[in-house]
Amino acid sequence: MKIICIGRNYANHAKELNNPVPTEPIFFLKPETSLLPKNNPFVYPSFSNDVQHEVEIVIKINRLGKHIDQKFAHKYYNEIAVGVDFTARDIQQQCKEKGLPWEKAKAFDGSAPTSKFVSIQQFENINKLNFSLQINGETKQQGNTKDMLFNFDQIVAYVSQFFTLKIGDIIYTGTPSGVGPVKINDKIDCFIEEKKMLSFNVK
Ligand code: ZN
Repeated sequence: MKIICIGRNYANHAKELNNPVPTEPIFFLKPETSLLPKNNPFVYPSFSNDVQHEVEIVIKINRLGKHIDQKFAHKYYNEIAVGVDFTARDIQQQCKEKGLPWEKAKAFDGSAPTSKFVSIQQFENINKLNFSLQINGETKQQGNTKDMLFNFDQIVAYVSQFFTLKIGDIIYTGTPSGVGPVKINDKIDCFIEEKKMLSFNVK
């Protein structure tokens, strides 16, 4: 399986990092080894001093597709989760300055903790969904999927022009503003609406 991540999909987050608001989706990949097994702690990587949280809604592909038309894109996913796109911001900054790829900053082991996936049927409207992240009980990030620059269907259609999407692939769909550092011993909790979906410690 592959993990596809959309960058700068919330205008308020693009702005907080002084990035331009994109006119088409930007994306990058993480390997399978970036998944964090359930209930395992996130191990703070030794190569960074500024690992930051990015809470995101994640969709799971449930059928094979390529060149998917936007109007059929909704047939290619039926479960969502909440996840954290951990980012070594100091390393990412160096990569950006040198025009290098971001993988070192984004794709390291454990950088993609993801909650269990739940059916989209249980939500009234997934294009108007609140999600949030707390550190030690304090809310640090809050978003709503209505603020995505590119919605789930647009993302699936766009990405499938470049990659065959396979059953089990997951797509991180971008983070709202409020990204910031995590520290060793922090407790991270992520929510969809009021429901706590993901909880782990930083070690
Ligand atoms: Zn992200």
